[in-house]
Amino acid sequence: MEKLWSILSNKVKESNKITEEKVLEDWIAGIIRVLLQSDVDFKIVREIERKIKTLIKSDDLESGRNKFIILHQAIFSEICKILDVGRPSFIPKKRKPSVVMFVGLQGCGKTTTCTKYAYYHARKGWKPALVCADTFRAGAFDQLKHDALKARIPFYGSYTESDPVKLAVQGVANFKKKNVNLIIVDTRVCHKQDASLLEELHQVSEAIQPDLVIFVMDSRIGQAASNQAQAFKRSVEVGAVIVTKMEGHAKGGGALSIVKATKSPVIFIGFGEQMDALKEFDLKSFVSRLLGMFDWYGFMHRQPELLEKVSEGESTFRIMYEHLQNALKIGPGGQIPGFSKDHSKESETKLKHYKAFMDSMTNGGKF
Ligand code: GDP
Repeated sequence: MEKLWSILSNKVKESNKITEEKVLEDWIAGIIRVLLQSDVDFKIVREIERKIKTLIKSDDLESGRNKFIILHQAIFSEICKILDVGRPSFIPKKRKPSVVMFVGLQGCGKTTTCTKYAYYHARKGWKPALVCADTFRAGAFDQLKHDALKARIPFYGSYTESDPVKLAVQGVANFKKKNVNLIIVDTRVCHKQDASLLEELHQVSEAIQPDLVIFVMDSRIGQAASNQAQAFKRSVEVGAVIVTKMEGHAKGGGALSIVKATKSPVIFIGFGEQMDALKEFDLKSFVSRLLGMFDWYGFMHRQPELLEKVSEGESTFRIMYEHLQNALKIGPGGQIPGFSKDHSKESETKLKHYKAFMDSMTNGGKF
């Protein structure tokens, strides 16, 4: 997959040779490709393209090589704006029991994420409990039970009850009587936009009146994301999103559609099948990854010395380069996102690539 970084640096090099207008056109085409390859919805890509073109025409844009940096920052902030829709509709508090209902398409990782979410909170001193309201899928209760036992989380479900509404109500009522402050309700998965399944979800939601509904999405959902999210939003009040399976090559561009359609923020990222493979959503790291960029933000936060210089206003590409070089010397490259584990030739090449880019920046690469 193409990386925004290499498109940017190639264009900066080329800008000496051909007309700037042509370079900008090519650059925008490259950006569009990166976004589409990252599964960002076509309409959102067009919207971003329009905004960038307007910015190019505006007099505010200085001439010279920094133009690319300004445009790059503009794209970054446009995507951040789409994803940054504020807080979830509800934030559970330890002192009062909350009911959180999980919904999602089949195979998105919903049941696994319910336990991960419970485990995450249990480790922070909460008293969570799990309710299985999926009466349809054979093995749904067994799966939840297995995960819950492993995570030592209390659970509720039935092998005989066939009414998901009854089961959800009983489960929630059962835990409300107990010393539990986070009741997590796993619901039946939907295969596609099936009206009867969505109606069932609506009924469960009406019956248990959840404080928060979390939509779980597979990071690879791609262009179908928007329609799916809108269908769910019509039957339940989605208030937050969790994106799963982010440990592979998936960029999670579908999240932009889900966030736009549900007007709800991403709150967690799932990055593996293990219980603890759930982390809080970090907007800047997510957008860096989506754009196929090196995650400077995440990297800097793992480099206290660099962070200090940045906060003192000494942020330059060169400082970053030096730190990157040192980090590669000290430990395996695998510790740095975008670099392979074995400090291989590939890492060296990437490093050279970054250096060439930084050297091509005016002003010593100062931001
Ligand atoms: P559901 O049908 O939505 O309830 O999905 P499940 O919870 O049964 O998960 C489907 C598959 O995805 C299982 O094999 C899970 O272990 C796997 N899974 C869930 N979350 C993640 C994740 O973040 N990364 C990876 N690689 N697999 C996951």
